[in-house]
Amino acid sequence: MKRHEFQRMRHEARRRTLTVTRVQSLSPRMTRVEFEGEDLKGFVSPAFDDHIKLFFGDAMRDFTPRRFDAARGTLTIDFALHADGPAMRWVRSAGPGTRLEIGGPRGSIVVPDDFDWNLLVCDEAGLPALGRKLEELRAGVPVTGLISVASAAEQLEFETRAAWSPRWLPRDVEGEDVAATLRRALREFTWPRGDGFVWVAAESSVARAVRDEVVGVHKHPPEWVKAASYWKRGEADSHERLD
Ligand SMILES: Cc1cc2nc3c(=O)[nH]c(=O)nc-3n(C[C@H](O)[C@H](O)[C@H](O)COP(=O)(O)OP(=O)(O)OC[C@H]3O[C@@H](n4cnc5c(N)ncnc54)[C@H](O)[C@@H]3O)c2cc1C
Repeated sequence: MKRHEFQRMRHEARRRTLTVTRVQSLSPRMTRVEFEGEDLKGFVSPAFDDHIKLFFGDAMRDFTPRRFDAARGTLTIDFALHADGPAMRWVRSAGPGTRLEIGGPRGSIVVPDDFDWNLLVCDEAGLPALGRKLEELRAGVPVTGLISVASAAEQLEFETRAAWSPRWLPRDVEGEDVAATLRRALREFTWPRGDGFVWVAAESSVARAVRDEVVGVHKHPPEWVKAASYWKRGEADSHERLD
């Protein structure tokens, strides 16, 4: 295969009913939910930033399969807590035995682990995918994180073999203008030599500003950038790929 070639895959779209086995608080604003279910047979999620649909009555929302263990038949999803919405109402009342219907992933874009370095830029909604990427990267490959979080209490520890350099950017210190904070952090970042993969997942206006900075100002090759809006301020159920 050619170097740095992203591989697109389609999967069988199927609804599955899962049962919660465990709810765990990772930080004040991040809750981990573990599920099991016979329906997980045949579930696949080859890309770190795959998304599945979670169904809450008539509403459905996108979430990242944070960890899938085919041998144990378990799926983990991490919920970044915010003020309100069907997903928030569900997770706040979930406990062992609570059921949830999911669908997907319908497709994946698999990014090869053949880049010289990686740069991951996100807010809390992107942290589950970032954590998965870190767990999947090869040993020793440099990976920098520029991560907007509400406060230092939101910093998470990840298991990784990669050379991980996180820069946590707490909003109670840096201010609420997340686009400006991340743009500044990108200007202070020492862009390594070689080919780099850049991933961006954040609130819509923030993700756009970061992508513009990476591609427009730093002239990073757009084909090595994957940027997405993971939510939109003031709007329910918003999702958009920016590349
Ligand atoms: C591909 C993809 C993967 C995602 N993976 C995850 C994941 O693994 N974990 C996760 O927590 N989220 C993830 N998200 C984000 C999640 O889908 C949205 O945050 C979603 O809007 C949450 O639904 P809700 O019912 O809580 O709120 P909604 O009903 O959609 O929105 C209600 C209100 O809350 C606001 N809002 C929504 N999300 C946030 C937020 N994160 N912070 C602050 N305000 C918000 C909206 O602007 C709106 O005003 C992902 C999104 C995408 C597109």
